[in-house]
Amino acid sequence: MDLKKLASRLIPDDDLPSLEECEKAYPPRVLKEGAEVTRLAPSPTGFIHLGNLYSALADERAAHTTGGIFYLRIEDTDEKRKVDGAVESVIRSLRYFGINFDEGAEIDGENAYGPYYQRRRAKIYRAFAKDLIERGLAYPCFSTEEELDEIRRVQTEKKEITGYYGKYAVWRDRSEEEIYAALEAGKPFVVRLRSQGDVNVKHTFRDAIKGSITVTENDQDVVILKSDGIPTYHFAHAIDDHFMRTTLVIRGEEWLSSLPIHIELFKVLGFALPRYGHTCSLMKVDGGTKRKDPELSLDFYRAAGYYPAAVIKYLMTILNSNFEEWAAKNQGEDYTAFPFSVSKMGKSGALFDLDKLNDVSRDELSKLSPEGMYGFLNGWVAEFGTDADRAHFKDRDYIIKILALIMGAGQKKRRKDIERAEQGVRLIDYFFDDAFSPEYSFRFDGKTVNDMLKNFADSYDENDDNSAWFAKLKAAAAAAGFAAENAEYKADPSAFKGNVSDAAEIVRMAVTGSPNSPDLCTIMGILGRERSLARLSAAMRAE
Ligand code: GLU
Repeated sequence: MDLKKLASRLIPDDDLPSLEECEKAYPPRVLKEGAEVTRLAPSPTGFIHLGNLYSALADERAAHTTGGIFYLRIEDTDEKRKVDGAVESVIRSLRYFGINFDEGAEIDGENAYGPYYQRRRAKIYRAFAKDLIERGLAYPCFSTEEELDEIRRVQTEKKEITGYYGKYAVWRDRSEEEIYAALEAGKPFVVRLRSQGDVNVKHTFRDAIKGSITVTENDQDVVILKSDGIPTYHFAHAIDDHFMRTTLVIRGEEWLSSLPIHIELFKVLGFALPRYGHTCSLMKVDGGTKRKDPELSLDFYRAAGYYPAAVIKYLMTILNSNFEEWAAKNQGEDYTAFPFSVSKMGKSGALFDLDKLNDVSRDELSKLSPEGMYGFLNGWVAEFGTDADRAHFKDRDYIIKILALIMGAGQKKRRKDIERAEQGVRLIDYFFDDAFSPEYSFRFDGKTVNDMLKNFADSYDENDDNSAWFAKLKAAAAAAGFAAENAEYKADPSAFKGNVSDAAEIVRMAVTGSPNSPDLCTIMGILGRERSLARLSAAMRAE
């Protein structure tokens, strides 16, 4: 068969680059020895989840700890899944978590290895598909969906491997007449690889993450160009990662089963195989059980106000198990100083534990200054807060005073009450009258509550220091039937309504709406006399 003629008939484009031109247009990168070129290659579905951030962080670290390049390629060959604005959203989400690309789609100055959208690289794929047809390594297949379904049905019934291979590859050896007749009839076709592999042959393969694994040769005549002339993931992957000069392909382990196909494609295309690292999927620990992939969008973490540095720090602990120890020894050092290593990544089942993330988050946030915390919370409020939140945050000095108290600034041991922005903003709501709607839960009868609150309100002086404030609280408590001293109470509990901390709880409930709070005297000082007294009397009336 005249394969050149067939190739021109199947791929008639007369403006395709020559293979040499492609090699020249995308020369090997000049980087220092050991530098890794990695990429994130999402489909533009607009949905980016924690697992993507985890992978992106591994890619980014692998590139940037070796003086390499990390780029963004958009795998938009599946038009149906495309969502407008998805690329910007990926970039924005990752940037929020401190992950930046060196080059790629929508990054400044489309660089020499672009375009980074696969749809814009159609000519390159078609040039190589044409070459494979000319060399007899690819052929047209006119099988319909129904015919393929039937093949699959038979294979399933016979318990054979499903797919288009061997005797099931019904268009593999068709005659010239049959092929041209189908073309004349205008039948749609795909282009398939004419596999040279043998499933009985196994090779040892070194995965950068999983270590030594066994791969079986591919014998599937996989589709390389779909009927609309657009390449499949397999074909585009081989061509792009070759011409973008990727040295290390880090991708999810769900691709491991396609590795034999990729090995064969690189071989027939005459390209050197990059290294591969297949990451294990992130499993979420959920009420003690493990669930595959949190599937939670990164936007969820942003909207909930997770502190980006904490999320990254936590993901680093999952990526490299020695990170935690390093971080403990190198307090104050940025995570980028850690000697990240792909080979130390977990081989199976990375566990994502929300409680652990929350702990890391409290820890990291507790290291901020009140001003730094104001900046973080205010950023969240601007994007996700309510109008009331935005109005509250206009009073920067007031909020910083609150935060200094909430965080225990200046104290030996910092408080770790703030876990993330949303929760932190809600935590300080009670400092604002318009957000203060307490549901009092007093543990004493109405008269006792009213006595305590009235006694204390009558003696309250905003100029009192902490000890004068406390002395007045004790006096008010004694007058309301509580023990002013713990020792008295212990000696004869039945003689009192409660001890002084029970009495203080009444005041605390009135002022903050909760039985627990940081230092009450300071809270009243921040609220000011008028607001504090108004709250004491509002609680009295409520009883
Ligand atoms: N577009 C593929 C995906 O979104 C990329 C896989 C890869 O990194 O090669 O899963």
